[in-house]
Amino acid sequence: MSDDTAFLDSALAAVSAAAGRVASARLAAGTASLVLDVTGLSAHERATLEADIRSALARVPEVSEVRIAMSSEKVERTIIAVGSGKGGVGKSTVAANLAVALARAGRKVGLVDADIYGPSQPRIMGNSDRPEMADKQIVPVEAHGVRMLSIGQLVEPGAALAWRGPMAATALGQLIDGDWGDAELLVVDLPPGTGDIQLSLIQKWKPAGAVIVSTPQDLALIDATRAIDLFRKMNVPILGLIENMAGYACPHCGEVSDPFGTGGAEAAAKVLSIPFLGRIPLTIAIRTASDAGDPPAAGEGEEAALFRDIAARLMERMAAA
Ligand code: ADP
Repeated sequence: MSDDTAFLDSALAAVSAAAGRVASARLAAGTASLVLDVTGLSAHERATLEADIRSALARVPEVSEVRIAMSSEKVERTIIAVGSGKGGVGKSTVAANLAVALARAGRKVGLVDADIYGPSQPRIMGNSDRPEMADKQIVPVEAHGVRMLSIGQLVEPGAALAWRGPMAATALGQLIDGDWGDAELLVVDLPPGTGDIQLSLIQKWKPAGAVIVSTPQDLALIDATRAIDLFRKMNVPILGLIENMAGYACPHCGEVSDPFGTGGAEAAAKVLSIPFLGRIPLTIAIRTASDAGDPPAAGEGEEAALFRDIAARLMERMAAA
């Protein structure tokens, strides 16, 4: 290290966020030239880092001008599509809780709510803040350790319903190409069925795999099979099937009954030779928690353990895919 960087080194040492990020620092004729490695930082974090460094260097008498260049390696993001054959099977609820469980398992997770028919993630995740823009990118909001963007944050409720293909695809692009910082996994909550959003996601963003949510009912399974076929035809690996609303635990006596049957999805997974990731019962607790913006996966109850196990199985499948 040459002498002229000594002033810089001691000034930069005071900026804790700069630790390990200064790729080079030079001082010549009063001009400090820095190259920062900003891999994984969001636009906001980059701006804060730059401002902190500028103010630290402004206090160094030998420095009259500061030039900062930033470089970053692109963070490779793995997209997991969460789909279902039809609406109302709990796809959004499962997507949210899966994202929270993956974050609790130490993954850096983003959640994209692309369900134009009923964007519900702001409610389920309990954050209805409007996202900000930075450098023409939307900055996700945060809830329960997960970054989140929803189509419901971009348009008034109901407005997206009339969208034709290209508009829906443009909105999806804004969400997926948001400022996700160092998020390595993006869980995408798709609309039900096999429409334009699914096709755009598959064609433009190439998900690493798809998770299908189904109730045990046959009808839902026939619909689910169609969704599975679409992913398969387009070479998106099916990471697994999750059976939701399987068995009802009475909150008074604890007796478990099966309003929609149980095990239907597991049996179907076998027939379709796709992995079965797990079963979530129909419980009042899940519904009230979802309405209150308090996903059970973020808590300590039985449901949290279920989602933790499903997330662990999903990570195994991803590692194997
Ligand atoms: P989808 O995304 O498939 O349309 P949602 O996730 O919006 O479905 O769920 C539909 C309704 O069912 C919501 O009111 C939600 O709280 C409720 N729900 C989902 N899963 C469960 C469950 N396992 N137990 C109880 N209620 C559930």
